[in-house]
Amino acid sequence: MLLNQPLLTIVIPCYNEEEVLNSTICQLSNVLEDLISESLISKHSRLLFVDDGSKDRTWQIIRERHVNQFHVTGLKLARNVGHQKALLAGLEKARKTSDCVISIDADLQDDTAVIKDFILKYLDGCDIVYGVRKKRTTDTFFKRTTATGFYKFMTSIGIPLVPNHADYRLMSKRALEELSKFTESNLFLRGIVPIIGFKSACIYYDRKERLAGETKYPLKKMLSFAFDGITSFSIAPIRFITILGFILFLLSGVAGGYALIQKFYGYTSSGWTSLIISIWFLGGLQLISIGLLGEYIGKIFVESKRRPKYAVETDLFTSPVENMKSK
Ligand code: UDP
Ligand code: MG
Repeated sequence: MLLNQPLLTIVIPCYNEEEVLNSTICQLSNVLEDLISESLISKHSRLLFVDDGSKDRTWQIIRERHVNQFHVTGLKLARNVGHQKALLAGLEKARKTSDCVISIDADLQDDTAVIKDFILKYLDGCDIVYGVRKKRTTDTFFKRTTATGFYKFMTSIGIPLVPNHADYRLMSKRALEELSKFTESNLFLRGIVPIIGFKSACIYYDRKERLAGETKYPLKKMLSFAFDGITSFSIAPIRFITILGFILFLLSGVAGGYALIQKFYGYTSSGWTSLIISIWFLGGLQLISIGLLGEYIGKIFVESKRRPKYAVETDLFTSPVENMKSK
């Protein structure tokens, strides 16, 4: 083990995280130091903070710390592209020079104490190690129930998510190389990573409160994330609409037959209520169906453009010395 200590890079996407960043840097530096002193990882292991177009002092903090601490590095994206793409930018950058990479959020809600277990699993031959939350007591009731519902729904339509795993995970170099072959613009990493394959393991931990600052995932972003996750992986929603359409078609046949019999025997009914209800019901259903079809067509549109996912403005990871000179 002493001979071949893996070079670890911890990738941390950050968006307006000035309130937590200093303590995050300290905590993660301590983790690296401990692992190095236990000879579990190479002494060249580093932290890579990806600044996702923050508007506060996030980047200044990263740069200041980088000057004094070689292991603190950064990547500044040209604009805000969202957590998934920012994370991918970091993974792609770190992949070339690292043996394994761990991704973690800047607010350290995920327990850093299990990083050692991640490494032990990696040394044991695992290419992917998933951090899984034991319980979500620190999340709001709303977030907890919607998240549970989301994982259940995704599994039921055949998307192999690891329940209660977000983006806290370790990936080996070869797993990252496989990941880089997925070229889609709409990324949903926690759906893609399990389909890569290789030997994997789960490590369980308790999720904590945010250190400071507030969530960068308000309801609107969460919903769009969930919707992207579903429609990027499965056409089950469209199939559901088709089946519903067939059922309604059959039901309307039965109802039509019933109405004809009524008419034949001379019973008159005002019919207004049922008419209005059917119009609203079918109108709504049609709008949903058109919307869903639009979603998928929109996805084809976005994917067919093959646009780059992000642009890097400053890179303190690849060549820190040259970068500091040019500043
Ligand atoms: N984040 C990002 N870009 C964004 C939004 C969030 O890089 O546009 C980062 C954020 O700084 C944090 C991580 O993604 O490190 C997760 O965000 P947050 O903790 O706010 O989400 P929550 O834990 O509330 O779901
Ligand atoms: Mg968080």
